[in-house]
Amino acid sequence: LVVLSNVNKHFGELHVLQNIDLRIARGEVVVVIGPSGGGKSTLCRAINRLETIDSGEIVIDGKPLPAEGRELAALRADVGMVFQSFNLFAHKTVLHNVTLGQVKVRKKEKKAADDRARRLLDRVGVASQAEKYPAQLSGGQQQRVAIARALAMDPKIMLFDEPTSALDPEMINEVLEVMRQLALDGMTMVVVTHEMGFARSAANRVVFMADGRIVEETTPAQFFSDPSSERAKDFLSKIL
Ligand code: ATP
Ligand code: MG
Repeated sequence: LVVLSNVNKHFGELHVLQNIDLRIARGEVVVVIGPSGGGKSTLCRAINRLETIDSGEIVIDGKPLPAEGRELAALRADVGMVFQSFNLFAHKTVLHNVTLGQVKVRKKEKKAADDRARRLLDRVGVASQAEKYPAQLSGGQQQRVAIARALAMDPKIMLFDEPTSALDPEMINEVLEVMRQLALDGMTMVVVTHEMGFARSAANRVVFMADGRIVEETTPAQFFSDPSSERAKDFLSKIL
């Protein structure tokens, strides 16, 4: 579904993505792990074109990433993204947050968008919060709304960049549970996370990234029990 071929990206002198090759199949859940500054966020941002790349190619569902205009808007709708900070529209209700893109980008009727939004809010467990404003919700609830908002666009793939790192511990699980369910439902997902329990239980594949490179790419079982690179061993010894 997503193919990155020999992707390179620099920030000035810093070679932040170095010859990245990555294929993500439909329905696959890929967890990206690695030390801070390794390029994980940049990789996610490159996939939905929040960052440009210097060379190489990114193809989503057979189409190369468009540079701008209407095609870019369509691509962004196809690639859902959930960030560490929830990025909800503060002055719109929860319901409106989830209907906005459906009406503006997907050109749905308001009634159909409302119905879909309420179903999605129910699915992520915040149906009763629909008329509230984001600030009136807990962090975990806000993040679940952010997931519902992304799902409302019927994305082909969902990118999660440390979706639980800004949350209080008791709220982390409720968000991971929604993500786990999404994975079981067959959504194609790329998840940057430090939640190793989630990686173990939900990932089909672990991609270990450090210093702008994919150092290791394997099953969670293999990665956690017997990582092949020194870099990954060192990383795991610090976090487990
Ligand atoms: P973390 O685990 O801390 O989120 P990361 O793996 O997501 O780290 P990135 O955010 O992708 O890492 O950053 C990779 C490197 O690129 C870092 O050294 C960072 O300082 C640098 N970088 C990121 N964005 C920019 C930017 N817009 N301009 C310049 N340098 C940047
Ligand atoms: Mg990051």
